[in-house]
Amino acid sequence: MSTPHYINGRWVSGNSINRITAYDPSLGQPFDELDAADAAQVDEAVTAARRALPNWSKAGAVTRADYLQGFADSLEERRENLISLLMQNNGKPRHEASVDIDDAVATFRYYANLIRPLNGQPDNAVALPTVAFSSHVRLEAIGVVGLIVPWNFPLVTSAWKLAPALAAGCTVVLKPSEITPLIEQVYGQIADELELPAGVLNIVMGLADTGAALSDHPGIDKLSFTGSNAVGSLVMRTAATYCRPVTLELGGKSAILVFEDCDLDQAVEWIIAGICWNAGQMCSATSRLLVHESIADALMLRLKSAFEKLRIGNPLTGEVDMGPLTSKAQWVKVNEYLAIADAEGLHCLTGAGTLQSGPGWFVSPTIYCDVPSNSRLWTEEIFGPVLCTQRFATQEQAVAMANDSRFGLVATVISTDLARAERVAEALDVGHVWINSVQVVFAQTSWGGTKGSGIGRELGPWGLSAYQSVKHITRFIG
Ligand code: NAD
Repeated sequence: MSTPHYINGRWVSGNSINRITAYDPSLGQPFDELDAADAAQVDEAVTAARRALPNWSKAGAVTRADYLQGFADSLEERRENLISLLMQNNGKPRHEASVDIDDAVATFRYYANLIRPLNGQPDNAVALPTVAFSSHVRLEAIGVVGLIVPWNFPLVTSAWKLAPALAAGCTVVLKPSEITPLIEQVYGQIADELELPAGVLNIVMGLADTGAALSDHPGIDKLSFTGSNAVGSLVMRTAATYCRPVTLELGGKSAILVFEDCDLDQAVEWIIAGICWNAGQMCSATSRLLVHESIADALMLRLKSAFEKLRIGNPLTGEVDMGPLTSKAQWVKVNEYLAIADAEGLHCLTGAGTLQSGPGWFVSPTIYCDVPSNSRLWTEEIFGPVLCTQRFATQEQAVAMANDSRFGLVATVISTDLARAERVAEALDVGHVWINSVQVVFAQTSWGGTKGSGIGRELGPWGLSAYQSVKHITRFIG
Protein backbone atom coordinates (compact mmCIF):
# COMPACT_ATOMS: atom_id res chain seq x y z
CA MET A 1 0.00 0.00 0.00
CA SER A 2 2.12 2.90 -1.29
CA THR A 3 -0.39 5.78 -0.96
CA PRO A 4 -2.43 5.03 2.14
CA HIS A 5 -3.24 8.57 3.33
CA TYR A 6 -6.21 10.55 2.06
CA ILE A 7 -5.44 14.26 2.33
CA ASN A 8 -7.29 17.06 0.56
CA GLY A 9 -9.01 14.61 -1.81
CA ARG A 10 -5.76 12.91 -2.88
CA TRP A 11 -4.07 9.62 -1.98
CA VAL A 12 -0.51 10.24 -0.84
CA SER A 13 2.38 8.24 0.58
CA GLY A 14 3.52 8.69 4.16
CA ASN A 15 6.51 10.88 5.00
CA SER A 16 7.23 9.55 8.48
CA ILE A 17 10.19 7.30 9.18
CA ASN A 18 7.71 5.02 11.01
CA ARG A 19 6.42 1.98 9.18
CA ILE A 20 3.08 0.40 10.00
CA THR A 21 2.63 -3.35 9.58
CA ALA A 22 -0.72 -5.03 9.12
CA TYR A 23 -0.76 -8.54 10.62
CA ASP A 24 -2.98 -11.54 10.21
CA PRO A 25 -3.43 -12.47 13.89
CA SER A 26 -4.53 -16.03 13.10
CA LEU A 27 -1.08 -16.66 11.64
CA GLY A 28 0.93 -14.07 13.53
CA GLN A 29 2.27 -13.03 10.12
CA PRO A 30 2.47 -9.62 8.40
CA PHE A 31 0.56 -9.19 5.16
CA ASP A 32 0.98 -5.50 4.33
CA GLU A 33 3.13 -2.55 5.27
CA LEU A 34 2.87 1.19 4.84
CA ASP A 35 4.65 4.42 5.72
CA ALA A 36 3.00 6.46 8.47
CA ALA A 37 2.00 10.09 8.04
CA ASP A 38 4.26 12.60 9.77
CA ALA A 39 3.30 15.74 11.67
CA ALA A 40 3.61 17.92 8.54
CA GLN A 41 1.06 15.71 6.79
CA VAL A 42 -1.28 15.94 9.76
CA ASP A 43 -0.91 19.71 9.39
CA GLU A 44 -1.77 19.47 5.66
CA ALA A 45 -4.85 17.43 6.52
CA VAL A 46 -6.02 19.93 9.14
CA THR A 47 -5.36 22.83 6.74
CA ALA A 48 -7.39 21.09 4.02
CA ALA A 49 -10.22 20.46 6.45
CA ARG A 50 -10.16 24.14 7.53
CA ARG A 51 -10.31 25.25 3.90
CA ALA A 52 -13.26 22.95 3.18
CA LEU A 53 -15.21 23.97 6.27
CA PRO A 54 -17.06 27.12 5.07
CA ASN A 55 -18.66 25.43 2.04
CA TRP A 56 -19.37 22.11 3.74
CA SER A 57 -20.90 23.65 6.84
CA LYS A 58 -23.19 25.73 4.62
CA ALA A 59 -24.10 22.89 2.25
CA GLY A 60 -27.78 22.12 2.79
CA ALA A 61 -28.85 19.22 4.95
CA VAL A 62 -30.18 17.39 1.87
CA THR A 63 -26.78 17.58 0.17
CA ARG A 64 -25.07 16.23 3.27
CA ALA A 65 -27.74 13.55 3.73
CA ASP A 66 -27.24 12.43 0.11
CA TYR A 67 -23.52 11.96 0.71
CA LEU A 68 -24.19 10.02 3.93
CA GLN A 69 -26.66 7.81 2.11
CA GLY A 70 -23.97 7.30 -0.54
CA PHE A 71 -21.52 6.16 2.15
CA ALA A 72 -24.10 3.64 3.43
CA ASP A 73 -24.82 2.26 -0.05
CA SER A 74 -21.15 2.04 -1.03
CA LEU A 75 -20.23 0.25 2.20
CA GLU A 76 -22.96 -2.24 1.45
CA GLU A 77 -21.54 -2.80 -2.06
CA ARG A 78 -18.12 -3.51 -0.60
CA ARG A 79 -19.46 -5.96 2.02
CA GLU A 80 -17.53 -9.04 0.84
CA ASN A 81 -14.19 -7.22 0.61
CA LEU A 82 -14.66 -5.64 4.00
CA ILE A 83 -15.63 -8.95 5.61
CA SER A 84 -12.44 -10.52 4.24
CA LEU A 85 -10.29 -7.67 5.51
CA LEU A 86 -11.90 -7.72 8.99
CA MET A 87 -11.34 -11.49 9.15
CA GLN A 88 -7.75 -11.15 8.02
CA ASN A 89 -6.62 -8.09 9.97
CA ASN A 90 -8.86 -8.32 13.09
CA GLY A 91 -9.30 -12.09 13.24
CA LYS A 92 -13.08 -11.65 13.41
CA PRO A 93 -15.35 -14.60 12.65
CA ARG A 94 -17.32 -14.04 9.41
CA HIS A 95 -20.67 -13.43 11.13
CA GLU A 96 -19.11 -10.82 13.46
CA ALA A 97 -17.46 -9.01 10.56
CA SER A 98 -20.81 -8.95 8.82
CA VAL A 99 -22.48 -7.41 11.88
CA ASP A 100 -19.81 -4.66 11.89
CA ILE A 101 -20.73 -3.75 8.33
CA ASP A 102 -24.46 -3.73 9.14
CA ASP A 103 -23.72 -1.42 12.04
CA ALA A 104 -21.64 1.05 9.99
CA VAL A 105 -24.24 1.08 7.20
CA ALA A 106 -27.06 1.65 9.71
CA THR A 107 -25.15 4.54 11.29
CA PHE A 108 -24.70 6.41 7.99
CA ARG A 109 -28.36 5.77 7.06
CA TYR A 110 -29.57 6.93 10.45
CA TYR A 111 -27.75 10.27 10.28
CA ALA A 112 -28.80 10.80 6.66
CA ASN A 113 -32.43 10.35 7.70
CA LEU A 114 -32.03 12.43 10.84
CA ILE A 115 -30.77 15.54 9.06
CA ARG A 116 -32.63 15.29 5.73
CA PRO A 117 -35.92 16.79 7.03
CA LEU A 118 -34.04 19.76 8.50
CA ASN A 119 -33.25 21.21 5.08
CA GLY A 120 -34.63 24.70 4.53
CA GLN A 121 -36.33 24.74 7.91
CA PRO A 122 -36.13 28.10 9.64
CA ASP A 123 -34.04 28.18 12.79
CA ASN A 124 -36.02 27.26 15.86
CA ALA A 125 -37.78 30.16 17.58
CA VAL A 126 -37.39 30.22 21.34
CA ALA A 127 -40.34 31.26 23.55
CA LEU A 128 -39.39 34.23 25.77
CA PRO A 129 -41.19 35.63 28.80
CA THR A 130 -41.62 39.02 26.99
CA VAL A 131 -42.81 40.26 23.59
CA ALA A 132 -40.13 42.95 23.61
CA PHE A 133 -37.56 40.43 22.30
CA SER A 134 -37.45 37.57 19.82
CA SER A 135 -34.87 34.85 19.80
CA HIS A 136 -34.00 31.87 17.68
CA VAL A 137 -31.42 29.16 18.00
CA ARG A 138 -29.02 27.85 15.35
CA LEU A 139 -27.16 24.56 15.61
CA GLU A 140 -23.92 25.18 13.73
CA ALA A 141 -21.04 22.89 12.89
CA ILE A 142 -18.48 22.92 15.69
CA GLY A 143 -15.73 23.19 13.06
CA VAL A 144 -12.75 21.04 12.12
CA VAL A 145 -12.72 17.87 14.19
CA GLY A 146 -9.97 15.35 14.90
CA LEU A 147 -11.17 11.75 15.25
CA ILE A 148 -8.85 9.17 16.83
CA VAL A 149 -10.00 5.56 17.00
CA PRO A 150 -8.82 2.12 18.18
CA TRP A 151 -8.63 -1.26 16.41
CA ASN A 152 -11.29 -3.49 17.92
CA PHE A 153 -14.24 -2.29 15.79
CA PRO A 154 -12.44 -0.06 13.27
CA LEU A 155 -15.22 0.30 10.72
CA VAL A 156 -17.88 0.87 13.36
CA THR A 157 -16.07 3.19 15.74
CA SER A 158 -15.10 5.41 12.81
CA ALA A 159 -18.67 5.38 11.44
CA TRP A 160 -20.02 6.46 14.85
CA LYS A 161 -17.83 9.57 14.61
CA LEU A 162 -17.69 10.26 10.87
CA ALA A 163 -21.41 10.07 10.13
CA PRO A 164 -22.60 12.55 12.79
CA ALA A 165 -19.60 14.86 12.26
CA LEU A 166 -20.25 15.10 8.50
CA ALA A 167 -24.00 15.38 9.15
CA ALA A 168 -23.42 18.33 11.46
CA GLY A 169 -21.36 20.12 8.78
CA CYS A 170 -17.96 19.52 10.34
CA THR A 171 -14.90 18.65 8.29
CA VAL A 172 -12.73 15.90 9.69
CA VAL A 173 -9.28 14.38 10.05
CA LEU A 174 -9.54 10.70 10.98
CA LYS A 175 -6.61 8.84 12.55
CA PRO A 176 -7.25 5.06 12.53
CA SER A 177 -5.32 2.60 14.68
CA GLU A 178 -1.94 1.37 13.51
CA ILE A 179 -3.07 -2.18 14.37
CA THR A 180 -5.78 -2.09 11.67
CA PRO A 181 -4.43 0.50 9.21
CA LEU A 182 -6.24 -0.70 6.06
CA ILE A 183 -9.90 -0.92 6.97
CA GLU A 184 -10.88 2.75 7.23
CA GLN A 185 -9.26 3.45 3.87
CA VAL A 186 -12.64 2.39 2.52
CA TYR A 187 -14.03 5.72 3.74
CA GLY A 188 -11.50 7.59 1.56
CA GLN A 189 -12.27 5.34 -1.42
CA ILE A 190 -15.99 6.05 -1.02
CA ALA A 191 -15.36 9.79 -0.61
CA ASP A 192 -13.45 9.67 -3.91
CA GLU A 193 -16.19 7.74 -5.65
CA LEU A 194 -18.92 10.10 -4.38
CA GLU A 195 -16.80 13.14 -5.26
CA LEU A 196 -17.06 14.45 -1.73
CA PRO A 197 -15.49 17.93 -1.86
CA ALA A 198 -11.74 17.82 -1.22
CA GLY A 199 -10.75 18.34 2.39
CA VAL A 200 -14.11 17.41 3.94
CA LEU A 201 -12.75 14.01 4.93
CA ASN A 202 -9.04 13.38 5.49
CA ILE A 203 -7.49 10.15 6.75
CA VAL A 204 -3.97 9.92 8.19
CA MET A 205 -2.53 6.58 9.30
CA GLY A 206 0.11 6.47 11.95
CA LEU A 207 1.41 5.45 15.34
CA ALA A 208 0.98 7.31 18.61
CA ASP A 209 3.02 10.30 17.36
CA THR A 210 0.60 10.83 14.46
CA GLY A 211 -2.31 10.75 16.93
CA ALA A 212 -0.47 13.17 19.21
CA ALA A 213 0.23 15.53 16.28
CA LEU A 214 -3.50 15.60 15.56
CA SER A 215 -4.67 16.01 19.15
CA ASP A 216 -2.06 18.75 19.69
CA HIS A 217 -2.85 20.62 16.46
CA PRO A 218 -3.97 24.21 17.12
CA GLY A 219 -6.19 24.13 14.02
CA ILE A 220 -8.83 21.69 15.27
CA ASP A 221 -11.96 22.77 17.12
CA LYS A 222 -12.79 19.48 18.82
CA LEU A 223 -11.22 16.09 19.40
CA SER A 224 -13.28 12.92 19.60
CA PHE A 225 -11.29 9.98 20.94
CA THR A 226 -12.05 6.31 21.47
CA GLY A 227 -9.39 4.20 23.10
CA SER A 228 -7.62 3.49 26.36
CA ASN A 229 -7.92 5.55 29.53
CA ALA A 230 -4.18 6.22 29.51
CA VAL A 231 -4.24 7.86 26.06
CA GLY A 232 -7.65 9.45 26.73
CA SER A 233 -6.11 11.33 29.68
CA LEU A 234 -3.28 12.59 27.46
CA VAL A 235 -5.75 13.74 24.81
CA MET A 236 -7.82 15.55 27.43
CA ARG A 237 -4.74 17.20 28.91
CA THR A 238 -3.75 18.46 25.47
CA ALA A 239 -7.29 19.72 24.83
CA ALA A 240 -7.11 21.63 28.13
CA THR A 241 -4.15 23.60 26.76
CA TYR A 242 -6.40 24.94 24.03
CA CYS A 243 -9.60 24.96 26.14
CA ARG A 244 -11.39 22.95 23.50
CA PRO A 245 -13.98 20.21 23.86
CA VAL A 246 -13.40 16.48 23.80
CA THR A 247 -15.56 13.41 23.56
CA LEU A 248 -13.87 10.44 25.23
CA GLU A 249 -15.06 6.84 24.80
CA LEU A 250 -12.80 4.83 27.10
CA GLY A 251 -12.58 1.51 28.86
CA GLY A 252 -14.96 -0.62 30.87
CA LYS A 253 -15.28 -3.45 33.37
CA SER A 254 -18.95 -4.10 33.01
CA ALA A 255 -21.21 -6.41 34.97
CA ILE A 256 -23.75 -8.99 33.86
CA LEU A 257 -26.27 -9.69 36.63
CA VAL A 258 -28.03 -13.05 36.53
CA PHE A 259 -31.02 -13.53 38.81
CA GLU A 260 -32.40 -16.80 40.15
CA ASP A 261 -35.54 -16.73 37.95
CA CYS A 262 -33.61 -16.80 34.64
CA ASP A 263 -33.59 -19.49 31.98
CA LEU A 264 -30.14 -20.99 32.61
CA ASP A 265 -29.43 -22.01 29.01
CA GLN A 266 -30.43 -18.61 27.69
CA ALA A 267 -28.28 -16.95 30.37
CA VAL A 268 -25.28 -19.02 29.25
CA GLU A 269 -25.71 -17.79 25.67
CA TRP A 270 -25.83 -14.16 26.74
CA ILE A 271 -22.89 -14.50 29.13
CA ILE A 272 -20.79 -16.01 26.32
CA ALA A 273 -21.78 -13.29 23.86
CA GLY A 274 -20.87 -10.65 26.45
CA ILE A 275 -17.32 -11.95 26.93
CA CYS A 276 -16.36 -13.96 23.83
CA TRP A 277 -17.68 -11.75 21.00
CA ASN A 278 -14.64 -10.22 19.27
CA ALA A 279 -12.55 -12.48 21.54
CA GLY A 280 -13.55 -10.25 24.45
CA GLN A 281 -11.87 -7.21 22.90
CA MET A 282 -14.83 -4.96 23.62
CA CYS A 283 -14.94 -1.86 25.79
CA SER A 284 -18.44 -3.08 26.67
CA ALA A 285 -17.46 -6.68 27.49
CA THR A 286 -19.51 -7.88 30.45
CA SER A 287 -16.46 -9.36 32.10
CA ARG A 288 -17.82 -9.45 35.68
CA LEU A 289 -20.52 -12.07 36.16
CA LEU A 290 -22.71 -11.56 39.24
CA VAL A 291 -24.92 -14.56 39.83
CA HIS A 292 -27.53 -15.31 42.48
CA GLU A 293 -26.08 -17.80 44.95
CA SER A 294 -29.01 -20.21 44.57
CA ILE A 295 -28.20 -20.92 40.90
CA ALA A 296 -24.44 -20.26 40.90
CA ASP A 297 -23.26 -23.88 40.94
CA ALA A 298 -25.70 -25.00 38.24
CA LEU A 299 -24.84 -22.02 36.03
CA MET A 300 -21.10 -22.59 36.39
CA LEU A 301 -21.42 -26.20 35.30
CA ARG A 302 -23.26 -25.19 32.13
CA LEU A 303 -20.90 -22.29 31.46
CA LYS A 304 -17.85 -24.52 31.73
CA SER A 305 -19.28 -26.98 29.27
CA ALA A 306 -20.38 -24.24 26.83
CA PHE A 307 -16.99 -22.45 27.00
CA GLU A 308 -15.22 -25.71 26.23
CA LYS A 309 -17.44 -26.34 23.20
CA LEU A 310 -16.63 -23.02 21.51
CA ARG A 311 -14.96 -23.45 18.11
CA ILE A 312 -11.82 -21.34 18.13
CA GLY A 313 -9.55 -20.88 15.15
CA ASN A 314 -8.66 -19.04 11.98
CA PRO A 315 -11.86 -17.50 10.57
CA LEU A 316 -10.41 -17.66 7.05
CA THR A 317 -10.11 -21.44 7.07
CA GLY A 318 -13.40 -22.55 8.62
CA GLU A 319 -16.46 -21.54 10.61
CA VAL A 320 -15.47 -20.46 14.09
CA ASP A 321 -17.15 -18.99 17.16
CA MET A 322 -14.07 -17.05 18.25
CA GLY A 323 -10.93 -15.94 16.46
CA PRO A 324 -7.54 -14.88 17.84
CA LEU A 325 -6.72 -11.69 19.70
CA THR A 326 -6.04 -8.95 17.15
CA SER A 327 -2.47 -8.06 18.09
CA LYS A 328 0.52 -9.67 19.72
CA ALA A 329 0.61 -6.84 22.28
CA GLN A 330 -2.96 -7.70 23.30
CA TRP A 331 -2.10 -11.41 23.48
CA VAL A 332 0.86 -10.62 25.74
CA LYS A 333 -1.34 -8.40 27.92
CA VAL A 334 -4.04 -11.06 28.36
CA ASN A 335 -1.41 -13.67 29.19
CA GLU A 336 0.01 -11.32 31.81
CA TYR A 337 -3.42 -11.24 33.46
CA LEU A 338 -3.57 -15.05 33.38
CA ALA A 339 -0.20 -15.07 35.17
CA ILE A 340 -1.48 -12.57 37.74
CA ALA A 341 -4.52 -14.82 38.33
CA ASP A 342 -2.12 -17.69 38.95
CA ALA A 343 -0.06 -15.61 41.36
CA GLU A 344 -3.21 -14.49 43.17
CA GLY A 345 -4.31 -18.13 43.48
CA LEU A 346 -7.63 -17.58 41.69
CA HIS A 347 -9.86 -20.58 41.06
CA CYS A 348 -9.83 -21.24 37.31
CA LEU A 349 -12.94 -23.13 36.15
CA THR A 350 -11.79 -23.47 32.56
CA GLY A 351 -9.32 -21.99 30.07
CA ALA A 352 -6.22 -20.03 31.03
CA GLY A 353 -3.93 -21.96 28.69
CA THR A 354 -2.75 -20.60 25.37
CA LEU A 355 -4.49 -22.54 22.64
CA GLN A 356 -2.64 -24.71 20.21
CA SER A 357 -5.01 -23.87 17.35
CA GLY A 358 -2.24 -22.43 15.22
CA PRO A 359 0.73 -20.14 15.26
CA GLY A 360 -1.46 -17.06 15.85
CA TRP A 361 -2.45 -15.09 18.93
CA PHE A 362 -5.12 -17.36 20.41
CA VAL A 363 -6.26 -17.49 24.02
CA SER A 364 -8.66 -20.02 25.56
CA PRO A 365 -11.90 -18.53 26.83
CA THR A 366 -11.35 -18.49 30.57
CA ILE A 367 -13.48 -18.35 33.73
CA TYR A 368 -12.29 -17.50 37.23
CA CYS A 369 -14.79 -18.20 40.02
CA ASP A 370 -15.41 -16.30 43.25
CA VAL A 371 -12.77 -13.70 42.43
CA PRO A 372 -12.04 -11.35 45.37
CA SER A 373 -13.14 -7.74 44.82
CA ASN A 374 -9.58 -6.48 45.26
CA SER A 375 -8.14 -8.80 42.61
CA ARG A 376 -6.67 -7.01 39.61
CA LEU A 377 -8.69 -9.35 37.43
CA TRP A 378 -11.90 -8.08 39.03
CA THR A 379 -11.05 -4.38 38.82
CA GLU A 380 -9.00 -3.90 35.62
CA GLU A 381 -10.02 -4.07 31.97
CA ILE A 382 -8.38 -7.16 30.45
CA PHE A 383 -9.75 -6.87 26.90
CA GLY A 384 -9.82 -10.58 26.22
CA PRO A 385 -12.12 -13.60 26.74
CA VAL A 386 -11.63 -13.73 30.52
CA LEU A 387 -14.71 -13.87 32.73
CA CYS A 388 -14.58 -13.28 36.49
CA THR A 389 -17.49 -14.31 38.69
CA GLN A 390 -18.94 -13.51 42.10
CA ARG A 391 -22.15 -14.57 43.88
CA PHE A 392 -24.79 -12.34 45.47
CA ALA A 393 -27.63 -12.98 47.91
CA THR A 394 -29.92 -9.98 47.37
CA GLN A 395 -30.81 -7.55 44.60
CA GLU A 396 -29.38 -4.64 46.61
CA GLN A 397 -26.11 -6.47 47.04
CA ALA A 398 -25.97 -7.25 43.29
CA VAL A 399 -26.45 -3.58 42.36
CA ALA A 400 -23.84 -2.43 44.88
CA MET A 401 -21.33 -4.98 43.55
CA ALA A 402 -22.00 -3.98 39.94
CA ASN A 403 -21.59 -0.29 40.73
CA ASP A 404 -18.38 -0.86 42.67
CA SER A 405 -16.10 -0.05 39.74
CA ARG A 406 -14.19 2.96 38.50
CA PHE A 407 -15.81 2.36 35.11
CA GLY A 408 -19.47 2.72 34.12
CA LEU A 409 -19.96 1.81 30.49
CA VAL A 410 -22.73 -0.83 30.27
CA ALA A 411 -24.46 -3.64 32.15
CA THR A 412 -26.70 -6.59 31.33
CA VAL A 413 -29.56 -7.76 33.57
CA ILE A 414 -30.99 -11.25 33.12
CA SER A 415 -34.27 -11.97 34.86
CA THR A 416 -37.76 -13.03 33.89
CA ASP A 417 -39.15 -10.59 36.49
CA LEU A 418 -39.24 -7.55 34.22
CA ALA A 419 -40.33 -5.13 36.94
CA ARG A 420 -37.29 -6.11 38.96
CA ALA A 421 -35.03 -5.93 35.91
CA GLU A 422 -36.22 -2.36 35.26
CA ARG A 423 -35.60 -1.37 38.90
CA VAL A 424 -32.11 -2.83 38.75
CA ALA A 425 -31.44 -1.05 35.43
CA GLU A 426 -32.41 2.26 36.99
CA ALA A 427 -30.04 1.69 39.91
CA LEU A 428 -27.01 0.85 37.77
CA ASP A 429 -24.51 3.66 37.30
CA VAL A 430 -23.67 3.07 33.62
CA GLY A 431 -24.43 4.53 30.19
CA HIS A 432 -26.42 1.63 28.72
CA VAL A 433 -28.26 -1.31 30.31
CA TRP A 434 -29.45 -4.35 28.35
CA ILE A 435 -32.30 -6.37 29.82
CA ASN A 436 -32.43 -9.97 28.60
CA SER A 437 -30.22 -9.13 25.64
CA VAL A 438 -26.59 -8.38 25.18
CA GLN A 439 -24.34 -5.98 23.26
CA VAL A 440 -27.14 -4.69 21.02
CA VAL A 441 -26.49 -1.14 19.85
CA PHE A 442 -28.89 0.72 17.59
CA ALA A 443 -27.89 3.94 15.84
CA GLN A 444 -30.93 5.48 17.56
CA THR A 445 -29.69 4.72 21.10
CA SER A 446 -26.84 6.47 22.85
CA TRP A 447 -23.33 5.16 23.42
CA GLY A 448 -20.99 6.26 26.18
CA GLY A 449 -20.32 5.77 29.84
CA THR A 450 -20.20 7.25 33.30
CA LYS A 451 -17.19 7.58 35.62
CA GLY A 452 -13.89 6.40 34.06
CA SER A 453 -15.63 5.17 30.90
CA GLY A 454 -15.55 8.58 29.34
CA ILE A 455 -17.14 11.92 28.60
CA GLY A 456 -20.04 12.54 26.23
CA ARG A 457 -22.29 10.33 24.15
CA GLU A 458 -22.18 9.00 20.61
CA LEU A 459 -25.05 7.83 18.39
CA GLY A 460 -28.64 9.08 18.37
CA PRO A 461 -29.34 12.81 18.39
CA TRP A 462 -26.75 13.09 21.20
CA GLY A 463 -24.06 11.95 18.77
CA LEU A 464 -25.04 14.76 16.39
CA SER A 465 -25.07 17.34 19.21
CA ALA A 466 -21.48 16.39 19.99
CA TYR A 467 -20.48 18.06 16.70
CA GLN A 468 -22.79 21.06 16.94
CA SER A 469 -22.32 24.47 18.46
CA VAL A 470 -25.42 26.20 19.85
CA LYS A 471 -25.91 29.82 18.83
CA HIS A 472 -28.82 32.05 19.89
CA ILE A 473 -29.74 35.22 18.03
CA THR A 474 -31.81 37.54 20.18
CA ARG A 475 -33.35 40.74 18.80
CA PHE A 476 -34.92 43.72 20.54
CA ILE A 477 -38.35 44.37 19.07
CA GLY A 478 -39.46 47.22 21.20
P1 NAD B 1 -5.13 3.21 22.52
O1 NAD B 1 -5.54 4.27 23.47
O2 NAD B 1 -3.82 2.58 22.71
O3 NAD B 1 -5.15 3.76 21.02
C1 NAD B 1 -6.28 4.41 20.48
C2 NAD B 1 -5.84 5.35 19.37
O4 NAD B 1 -5.06 6.41 19.95
C3 NAD B 1 -4.94 4.70 18.31
O5 NAD B 1 -5.29 5.22 17.03
C4 NAD B 1 -3.55 5.18 18.71
O6 NAD B 1 -2.63 5.24 17.64
C5 NAD B 1 -3.86 6.57 19.22
N1 NAD B 1 -2.83 7.12 20.14
C6 NAD B 1 -1.91 6.44 20.87
N2 NAD B 1 -1.17 7.32 21.61
C7 NAD B 1 -1.66 8.56 21.34
C8 NAD B 1 -1.34 9.87 21.81
N3 NAD B 1 -0.35 10.07 22.69
N4 NAD B 1 -2.07 10.91 21.35
C9 NAD B 1 -3.08 10.72 20.48
N5 NAD B 1 -3.42 9.51 19.98
C10 NAD B 1 -2.72 8.43 20.42
O7 NAD B 1 -6.31 2.14 22.56
P2 NAD B 1 -6.41 0.77 21.79
O8 NAD B 1 -5.49 -0.21 22.41
O9 NAD B 1 -6.30 1.03 20.34
O10 NAD B 1 -7.94 0.36 22.10
C11 NAD B 1 -8.32 -0.34 23.24
C12 NAD B 1 -8.99 0.58 24.23
O11 NAD B 1 -10.06 1.28 23.60
C13 NAD B 1 -9.63 -0.19 25.37
O12 NAD B 1 -9.33 0.44 26.59
C14 NAD B 1 -11.13 -0.09 25.08
O13 NAD B 1 -11.94 -0.19 26.22
C15 NAD B 1 -11.21 1.25 24.42
N6 NAD B 1 -12.43 1.34 23.60
C16 NAD B 1 -13.49 2.07 24.07
C17 NAD B 1 -14.67 2.13 23.34
C18 NAD B 1 -15.86 2.92 23.83
O14 NAD B 1 -16.77 3.16 23.05
N7 NAD B 1 -15.91 3.31 25.10
C19 NAD B 1 -14.76 1.46 22.12
C20 NAD B 1 -13.67 0.73 21.67
C21 NAD B 1 -12.50 0.68 22.43
